[in-house]
Amino acid sequence: MDQKLISVVCAGCTCLCDDMDVTISDGQILESPACRRAHRWFDRLNVEPVCKIDSEKSDFSEAISNAVELLEQSRSPIVCGLDGLSTQSQILAFEIAKQVRAQVDTTVTSKYRSSVLAMQNVGNVTASLGEVSTRSDLIVFWYCDPVTTHPRFIDRYCKTAGKIIVVSEAGNATSERADQFIQIRREEMGQFIARTRLCTEGKSETTHESAEFANSLMGAKYGAFVIGSLDLNPTINENTQSLVELVQTLNQRTRFVSIALRDDANAQSAENVLTWSTGYPFAVNLLGEHPQFNGVEFSAEKVLAGGACDVALICSAYSLNSLSRPAQENLSRISQIVITDEPGSLDIQPKVQFNVNFDEGDWCRMDDVSLPVVNFLQTGGAKQRTARAVLTAIRARLV
Ligand code: SF4
Repeated sequence: MDQKLISVVCAGCTCLCDDMDVTISDGQILESPACRRAHRWFDRLNVEPVCKIDSEKSDFSEAISNAVELLEQSRSPIVCGLDGLSTQSQILAFEIAKQVRAQVDTTVTSKYRSSVLAMQNVGNVTASLGEVSTRSDLIVFWYCDPVTTHPRFIDRYCKTAGKIIVVSEAGNATSERADQFIQIRREEMGQFIARTRLCTEGKSETTHESAEFANSLMGAKYGAFVIGSLDLNPTINENTQSLVELVQTLNQRTRFVSIALRDDANAQSAENVLTWSTGYPFAVNLLGEHPQFNGVEFSAEKVLAGGACDVALICSAYSLNSLSRPAQENLSRISQIVITDEPGSLDIQPKVQFNVNFDEGDWCRMDDVSLPVVNFLQTGGAKQRTARAVLTAIRARLV
């Protein structure tokens, strides 16, 4: 029989749209207003739970025993890939890392580290997406392309924006929908931001494009910067920091906020878990008596590329393909325990593998608002097994 579900939350991207009415029948979606991006997430709801040891099917308890043995015998384990997990499972992953004295990192990519490091340095003026969608009359998409990466963002959150400006290295799908497109090369970005800031402070009367841009910003009653990944090297966060400082300066004249348009699933929640548990947001070394943090030194990418671990517990293989080649090569040489709800995209053959359903629980939207996400195709079903079940079993067996 057909079943209509109201206001389902989609975890297909960090928008976490919570307005979807979905019709399902026999575990299949018949009708939904979701965007094309959501379909990848729908596939993660219906995974056949399978355990493998050395690529051979095994039963759950044997696979758990093998995973526990590998972790207990390891001299230098890493626990990473927390970004495809619910907050509840991220807490379990951290507890396992603490128990086996591992290096722990939120994701396997260092892509959004610069926005976190910039926030640590200078703070951030931000707001909820609800506030942005009801108050902003100007939205600036800075080095991002939400039409491609977060397809419903503009329709949901730019309702009151009379003007949309896109600043980017090259035109994209979002700039085609914008009122204005400003092309800035990445290496000239810092200079452009600095000039704009001088104009907003009344310290420069340049005729440069930045003066016109500054006038648009100061003419807004409520503006929002939606920021992509600005600094490719995560240890250099100058551009991100300059932009955050520009937003702070603008608040002397009008109201402005910024939000990072992240594309790394639930990594923000993982950063929250690590911060409240250790004081550090990512890449934490738990090998010694006290947690250690040194920028990206203990990040999954660095640790794997440097061959500084002998067992990897990858709690979600969500962004495994974004590892550098040296990191991927070293990863293939050590024992891996991989939990994945996208088994089809896995390029490695782990020592122990758990294919699981999407991990329902609390997920963090890009503005840090936590929402409960359910697997509406499987909730309560006999076939359901999630990362949380695997991590709970490993945690229970560690002494
Ligand atoms: S924009 Fe993102 S959260 Fe919203 S329906 Fe599409 S994939 Fe899902």
